[in-house]
Amino acid sequence: MNAYASMGQSKADAVCDFRSDTLTTPCEGMRAAMAAAEVGDDVYGEDPTVMRLEEALAARLGKEAGVFFATGTQSNLAALLSHCGRGDEVLVGEHQHIRTSEAAGASVLGGIAIWPLAQGVDGVISAEAVRAAVKPDDTHYPVSRLLCLENTLGGVAVPLDTMRATADAGRGAGLAVHLDGARFFNATTALGCSATDLAGAFDTVSVCLSKGLGAPVGSVLVGEWAVLEKARRWRKMLGGGMRQAGVIAAAGLYALEHTVERLAEDHARAERLAGVLREAGATARHATNMVFLTIPDGQYGALRDHMAERGVSIGGEAREVRLVIHRDVGDAALKVAMAGFSDFFRV
Ligand SMILES: *Cc1c(COP(=O)(O)O)cnc(C)c1O
Repeated sequence: MNAYASMGQSKADAVCDFRSDTLTTPCEGMRAAMAAAEVGDDVYGEDPTVMRLEEALAARLGKEAGVFFATGTQSNLAALLSHCGRGDEVLVGEHQHIRTSEAAGASVLGGIAIWPLAQGVDGVISAEAVRAAVKPDDTHYPVSRLLCLENTLGGVAVPLDTMRATADAGRGAGLAVHLDGARFFNATTALGCSATDLAGAFDTVSVCLSKGLGAPVGSVLVGEWAVLEKARRWRKMLGGGMRQAGVIAAAGLYALEHTVERLAEDHARAERLAGVLREAGATARHATNMVFLTIPDGQYGALRDHMAERGVSIGGEAREVRLVIHRDVGDAALKVAMAGFSDFFRV
């Protein structure tokens, strides 16, 4: 069984679903944009909507080119395959998605070694950790080629200076640097910086449209032409060359135009929820659109059931359960959830 399918109740009967921001469904305006999309065969380079999306995201992040992918996993994988060859090595934070949640695709399909870097407070990777992990030119070792960072990182917006220091350590050692920016705009929103500021420290950046931005599918990889041309070839090899993909790219364009600004609302709601949880005596912290709730020993099942009775779904069992705020969690739903949590923790 899919691990995610067992997390709490189904969406159908939920008034509030905190499991993930991937659960957002396209709104009416987005569906209208999809229905009206001008399309062509994108493998022939003839889908105007896909091209517009690729250009829009590249321009926004200050990069030369973009390539549209079905998923963030495919986009990250194509980036790794484009930067590295067989026997090369990618350095990546031990808890980053690329290392923990992408089925080691780069190793399976690319013969790329994945070297985990220790993550410190708030998940941050120190410049020193990067320098220490870069291998000397010696036949005992793979060739260190790429450093991958993530922002937001486990929901936390890593400050620009910190990102730059880590990225510069990689660059100084001759590595290319890739950003897994699945929640890129949550990061820029929280940091109050521009997209070009954050993207500027990286050679390639992968951005998900299907999380808080609310598109049903899609990610875009941006960077220099030379790397992106390779990524386009890898996309085809990975089976990701789509035809009239403008129908889904239109959702991404709509998201860029209409939903980036509202991410701040999600962050504000996360802050409110964390505040209410703490007032009720729970241990909770928030970062961007997430609240991390510490579950008292042995109480996960009771909390899950208590909330489910009120129509609130929470994520799977963990010491700290992640409550994710997104576009489909409005004030009314949040109020129901806050009341439910308060009841539970006050008794
Ligand atoms: C969601 C996510 C991805 C990509 O996931 P897909 O489900 O393949 O789109 C990559 N990195 C991070 C940090 C993510 O949260």
